Amino acid sequence: MPLTKEKEYYKATRRAVAIVNSSVPAKEKLDAIARATARCMESGVSIVLLDSTKTKLIHNFSWGLPKFFLRKGLLDVHKSLGEVPLGQPVIVPDAGSDSRIQFPEMAAKAGIVSMLGVPVMLHGSAVGSVRVYSRKHFEYTNQDIAFVTAMANLVALALGSTTSSQTEGATKDIKSVAPSLRQLRSVTFAHPSERDFANILDFYDIEWVYEPRSFPLKQEDDKITEMFTPDFYLPGLDLYVELTTMKQGLVTRKNRKLRHLREMYPDVKITLLYKNDYDKLLAKYGGGPLAQTRAHGIKRVLFSATEIADRVQLVAQQISKDYASRRPLLLGVQRGFLCFMADLIRCITVPLDVDFLGISYYDRSDDAAVKITKDVDLSVTGRHVIVVEDIIDTGITLSYILGHLKERHTASLATCTLLDRRVRRLADVPLDYVGFEVPDEFVVGYGLDYKEEYRNLPFIAIPVIRKQRAKEK
Ligand code: 5GP
Ligand code: MG
Repeated sequence: MPLTKEKEYYKATRRAVAIVNSSVPAKEKLDAIARATARCMESGVSIVLLDSTKTKLIHNFSWGLPKFFLRKGLLDVHKSLGEVPLGQPVIVPDAGSDSRIQFPEMAAKAGIVSMLGVPVMLHGSAVGSVRVYSRKHFEYTNQDIAFVTAMANLVALALGSTTSSQTEGATKDIKSVAPSLRQLRSVTFAHPSERDFANILDFYDIEWVYEPRSFPLKQEDDKITEMFTPDFYLPGLDLYVELTTMKQGLVTRKNRKLRHLREMYPDVKITLLYKNDYDKLLAKYGGGPLAQTRAHGIKRVLFSATEIADRVQLVAQQISKDYASRRPLLLGVQRGFLCFMADLIRCITVPLDVDFLGISYYDRSDDAAVKITKDVDLSVTGRHVIVVEDIIDTGITLSYILGHLKERHTASLATCTLLDRRVRRLADVPLDYVGFEVPDEFVVGYGLDYKEEYRNLPFIAIPVIRKQRAKEK
């Protein structure tokens, strides 16, 4: 027997409450609320949030709505529905003929007939809205509105729990919510350079939205045949930014599109960031191909901070999966493991222990080249140990450590290294988790040193070292 609407709403609310009261990240909570609302209302749903200028509403979490609809343009808080300035639910029974719809053609194209917007109230101000977009004529009942209101309240709770530290005390202003929205974005960037750029914007505390709007450039009959979707919109500056990481010579086509866009939309401010300018910006921040202009004595950057972060996240995911039912003991080898270990454990989602080993090297002509200077503090017997190294070069260090640990009867023994210089391998050591393979050149940064220098670089690079010293450790 199908559930009555009331029971369905009760079930969905109960589930959403449990998620909001759990420890999952806020964006997962909002995603779950949007999904549950969409399913129950048999409609598209979007959670829109106010930007820091309080003039625009941004689609943050959506279910069941086409991409072109989400990118139709920035919603003006006063021209669109109006539930946010009102602080009350607004119903639009017929989207086709209602002046409260900002983009009626787009709504029609997406087949949206009726709409309901319920404001999200946080500390007495509306900070956004839960919007229901129905594809058939919908007479929203009091029960429907009560359900969406409950969901909007849960959105506020989820937002409130991420901002409580900032909203404590006298600053109960919506402005204090805006910085936290940054943590809520669930953005998949098309290109790593976009992620780097977003990091820079975050660093300078400039609010951004990724690809919020597609501009139709050419139309044949009813079909849009050419479109342009700028990479970023910066609400504080009311500016669109398009990155171009292509060679200077290849941007002519993009330039033509942009000129076209400026003609068609004279009110839109857009800027193209060329590769050279972009590289300079990255270098200031310590990454990209021009990074040596800041970090003294760097020949070439091998992996940017962003690339490392992405890779570490993947390695951590794999470890979390493999150790879902075992508690691993991560054993770092001093001192190059520092940055890698710190980032790795924060991305691993299973409970774990951490310890480390200190080692030093005898003269390499000696047989027993490696010596343990600091042993493990925790007992490794019966434990699932993962040795964490910065780089495996000849493999001699790791093979010595593995031998040392095997004598202690671990339950299992795995190896994880950020860098692998396979071409120089002498001892055959098994590697279970590898970050990157590196060429036969000495590398520094992200914990790795040359004579105790360079450890604090946020990226991995090849330093300028006189040739005869390149093999020193
Ligand atoms: P292996 O015993 O595998 O030859 O060398 C391992 C250790 O040598 C690494 O853990 C690391 O401390 C050091 N090492 C090897 N190659 C490099 C390198 O390119 N840069 C730095 N900074 N250390 C290295
Ligand atoms: Mg090491």
